[in-house]
Amino acid sequence: MAIATETQQQEKKASEASADVQKRWTLSDFDIGKPLGRGKFGHVYLAREKRSNHIVALKVLFKSQLQQSQVEHQLRREVEIQSHLRHPNILRLYGYFYDQKRVYLILEYAARGELYKELQRCKHFSERRAATYVASLARALIYCHGKHVIHRDIKPENLLIGAEGELKIADFGWSVHTFNRRRTMCGTLDYLPPEMVESVEHDASVDIWSLGVLCYEFLYGIPPFEAREHSDTYRRIVQVDLKFPPKPVISQTAKDLISQMLVRDYSQRLPLHKVLQHPWIVQNAEPSGIYRG
Ligand code: AMP
Repeated sequence: MAIATETQQQEKKASEASADVQKRWTLSDFDIGKPLGRGKFGHVYLAREKRSNHIVALKVLFKSQLQQSQVEHQLRREVEIQSHLRHPNILRLYGYFYDQKRVYLILEYAARGELYKELQRCKHFSERRAATYVASLARALIYCHGKHVIHRDIKPENLLIGAEGELKIADFGWSVHTFNRRRTMCGTLDYLPPEMVESVEHDASVDIWSLGVLCYEFLYGIPPFEAREHSDTYRRIVQVDLKFPPKPVISQTAKDLISQMLVRDYSQRLPLHKVLQHPWIVQNAEPSGIYRG
C-alpha cells in the first residue's frame, strides 16, 4: 500500500513538473506592481509571480504597434534566441504569453535600472567601473558567440544594472533583422563598424567593434565617432577617425585597448578572450564582475 501511494505521489509530481514545462502563463498568474519604464512598443511593470513569489519585470507590448512597425516576426525570432541564453550578464527571458491585444514578456528584474541613465548622471565612468563593465560584456559576448549568436546592437540603452551592480545585456537585438530595424527605425550609426555601415559581409567581430565604442563612451561620456550629421558619423566610422580628447585624463593602457578593438579590418580586432587578458582590464576590472561604486 505504502509503495502504491509513493508511486502515485511520484506520478503526480511528474505530471505537475511536465505541466510546469508546458505551462501557459496568463496575466492572472502575476500581481502587477509599479511601472518600471516605457518602451517604443509598450510598458514595463514590476510583477510578482503568485505561486513562486518570484519578482520579475513584465514587459507589455501592444500587438497593434508591433504590427504597424512590422516587427512581429522579428520579435518572435529574438524572443526565441534570448529565452535560450543563460549568463549572469544577460537578462533572462523566462517566458511569454499573449492575449487579444498584447504580448507579455516575463523578464528578469534589473533592480538598478538603466546603465544609460547612470552614465548621463555621472557624465563618464571611472576606469575601474568602465573596465568592470567591459569585462562583463566581453564574457557575455564570448558566451553568445559560442552559441553562434552575434549581438550587433551593443549600446548603453540596451544595458541594465542588477541589484548587486552587475551589468545585464537587456535587449533582443540578436538577429540580422535587428540590423535592418536599426537602419530603418532608429538610424543610429554611432555603434556600427565600417563593414556594417558599408553593408559588406560581417561576422562576430562586429561585437568587438561595438565593445570598443562602448568602452570609449564609458570613459569619455560620448561615443567616438559622434557628429552632428549622419553623413559625418558615417565618414568618421569608415575612416576610423579615432581621437582621444585631453579631458577627462585617461590612461594610455585604456586608449591602447580601445585602439585595438576599433580596427577597420575586422580580422585584426583584438579577440574577446584577449580583451579579458589586456593589462587595462587585468589592472582595473573588479574580479567579481560587480561594480559597487
Ligand atoms: P524597453 O521597452 O525595453 O525600452 O523598456 C523600457 C524601460 O523599462 C527601460 O528603459 C527600463 O527603464 C525599464 N525596464 C525594462 N526592462 C526592465 C527590467 N528587466 N528590469 C528593470 N527595468 C526594466
